[in-house]
Amino acid sequence: MPELPEVEALAYHLREHAVGRTVSRVDVVSLSVLKTVTPQWTELHGREVTGAGRHGKHLDLECGDLHLIVHLARAGWLRWSDSLSPAPPRPGGKGPIALRVHLSGPGFDLTEAGTKKGLAVWIVRDPAEVPSIARLGPDALELDRDRLGTLLAGQTARLKTVLTDQRVMAGIGNAYSDEILHMARLSPYATPAKLTAEALDRLAEAMHEVLTGAVERSVGQDAARLKGEKRSGLRVHARTGLPCPVCGDTVREVSFADKAFQYCATCQTGGKPLADRRMSRLLK
Ligand SMILES: [Zn+2]
Repeated sequence: MPELPEVEALAYHLREHAVGRTVSRVDVVSLSVLKTVTPQWTELHGREVTGAGRHGKHLDLECGDLHLIVHLARAGWLRWSDSLSPAPPRPGGKGPIALRVHLSGPGFDLTEAGTKKGLAVWIVRDPAEVPSIARLGPDALELDRDRLGTLLAGQTARLKTVLTDQRVMAGIGNAYSDEILHMARLSPYATPAKLTAEALDRLAEAMHEVLTGAVERSVGQDAARLKGEKRSGLRVHARTGLPCPVCGDTVREVSFADKAFQYCATCQTGGKPLADRRMSRLLK
């Protein structure tokens, strides 16, 4: 799933390549991705792209006073093309293309792989009209140590859960929370409100290091290469069974019905493995 660094890189790409161009046409291939009825997507036709930005994990293509907002969800992606076919993709087709934006020559497709659909698009006059944007906490890139301390002070859910709760702070998902917790040497199950001052220092520093590092690696990369770039920068996420690059212990995982997270027991939990329901079922 694209998180803050990847969405930031996509926004950068659009600022470099789309701003100043005119939307010649928008093809809505999968009507179900469109979450707003008015303004209609045809109102974008003939408008100039005036900017591109990010709200948490949402991408914002600004066309004057209209915003095309995209949430890529788990398997969505933006595929840029320098010469997009002028023919509209077949509606209702089985392909991954959900929506195509023609920018008089180049353009991009919003695609979604798999059967579980979560890709969402809104056309609004104000980004705050999108409910999931209106609820966003402050952006994770902009949090200093004191602000982070204030946000975590009253939180009693697990640290991993709180870091990925977009209402507390915006932009961090499953992959980068694993990376941040590993760098900060903190358990995913730590209680945020009980972190020591020293642990909070490490967390704030790790959050800054991991996110800015990933943004620097991603920005300027071809949209097509972004996913590979993300993977190459990860130290524990999606690396179950591989050695921890810090201590050499085996990276462990806790799995749920539809996702899993990874951590290093030596670095993060005092050498004690966290309970994993699937693992303990297998051991019975
Ligand atoms: Zn380790």
